[in-house]
Formats: sequence, structure tokens, C-alpha cells
Amino acid sequence: MERISVFPGSFDPITRGHESVIRRALPLFDKIIVAIGENGEKKSFFPLEQRLGWLRDIFEGEPKIEITSYTGLTVDFCQKHNIPFILRGLRTAADFEFERGIGQMNKLMVPGIETVFLLCEPEYASLSSSIVRDIIRNGGDVRKFIPERVKL
Ligand code: ADP
Repeated sequence: MERISVFPGSFDPITRGHESVIRRALPLFDKIIVAIGENGEKKSFFPLEQRLGWLRDIFEGEPKIEITSYTGLTVDFCQKHNIPFILRGLRTAADFEFERGIGQMNKLMVPGIETVFLLCEPEYASLSSSIVRDIIRNGGDVRKFIPERVKL
């Protein structure tokens, strides 16, 4: 069986924390699909095409990484594409509680899919897309929080 995982998220915008988890997970998998989950009800800050473009630029030349987007449940996306693993990052105990709920509900829906967690690097423990968006809205400099290839 090929070890394929999906790293689902909004990446609105992608941060250095996301990039670090994805790169650190590369030795664990044959392929990582970085997938932007589109939620019709939640309006994103950056358009989908821009977020996809950033992901493509950042991981260009990395043969084990694919970039895509999807709508609907992550487990449905996994089943449709035969993806046995969901990759997620953990920053804090709050992340753990949130992820435990989603991961265990996913397990009840589709028992064959395993969620794999990587602890984030300590320097990224307070970094979130929502704080980055707040800084951007208020005219601050976010360059050290987002990958170099992301040009706002
Ligand atoms: P969502 O919209 O599902 O919350 P995000 O794009 O915010 O998705 O995050 C996707 C994944 O990246 C989640 O598993 C989240 O815990 C993880 N993540 C977010 N920020 C960081 C960070 N600074 N370091 C490590 N992992 C992170």
C-alpha cells in the first residue's frame, strides 16, 4: 500500500508553521496531498486561486507533494482518492481537543482512515493564520511568519 496522506486546511494564508509540518512529514509518506478545504459558508480572506498558487510555488520541485482543493468532508475526499492517512499539526492543548473531536468523529465515520499528528516546532506554537490575517488587516509586517515565496 502506498503511504499517501492528505494535509487538509484553509491555508488562509499558509504560514511557516504549516510549511514546517508538511516538510517534516515528508519522510513518513510516499505522497502528501496538501488540500485546501473549501467551505461554502465560510468566506476566506484570500481567494482560493491565490492560496493554491502560493502552495504550488512553495512546493514546486518537490515530487512527493501534490496541491489541490476539495469541497465536502475530508473523509469523503480520502475515500474517493484512496488516501489512508490524514496529517494534522498540533500546537497546543486546545488544538489537541479540537483535533481529537474531529479525528474521532472521522474514525467513527470511516474506520479505515488514520489521523497522524506532528507536534509543531516550538517557535511556531503561537503562529496561526488568523493572527497573521489580523496583522495584515492592521498594516503590520508578516514576512517572518509566512513562507518567503508568499508575496502579498
Ligand atoms: P483549519 O482551517 O482546518 O484550521 P489551518 O489551515 O488553520 O486549517 O491548519 C491546518 C493544519 O495545520 C491543522 O492541523 C493545524 O493544527 C495545523 N497548523 C496550523 N498552524 C500551525 C502551526 N503554527 N504549526 C503547526 N501546525 C499548524
